[in-house]
Amino acid sequence: METVACSQGSAILEALIETIHSNAAFLSELDGAIGDGDHGINMDKGFLKTRAVVGDRQVHLSEGLDTLGNILLNDIGGAMGPIYGTFFMEMASACQGCESIDRVGFGQMLKRATHAIEELGGAKVGDKTLLDTFDELIRLEEYELCAEIKKATDKKPSRTKSKVHSD
Ligand SMILES: [Mg+2]
Repeated sequence: METVACSQGSAILEALIETIHSNAAFLSELDGAIGDGDHGINMDKGFLKTRAVVGDRQVHLSEGLDTLGNILLNDIGGAMGPIYGTFFMEMASACQGCESIDRVGFGQMLKRATHAIEELGGAKVGDKTLLDTFDELIRLEEYELCAEIKKATDKKPSRTKSKVHSD
């Protein structure tokens, strides 16, 4: 199973920051349809501040996500700060001390973070909130994990067969 080294925290964090930064206008556009259109601006502010705080340091994934979560929670605030802050801080706790994460580990991180948000706001899956997106992501992870396991186990009979033939 493919794994990602947690020592690559800075690179992963930078990919997250760049994704939010380059989609900031789009996020604000989406927010504008139902809200005040500042979601992209606020997210971008928090992610860019994280880039400045981490700087050139090579951080463990847990430290990177925790820094991001803390900044979103304490410096950005509003409605999104506690939600995304909690989400990333829980993901950070879930991979603390881990050398690497695989698909199973990432699924566990997602589940833990999603559960924390559920507890925080009292929303449930199906309420048409951000939780629905996370729930979909968890299902996708589990589906792909099953497909990965199936692919691995499907290979077994042919290996056994060739072994039998060579005997
Ligand atoms: Mg807003």
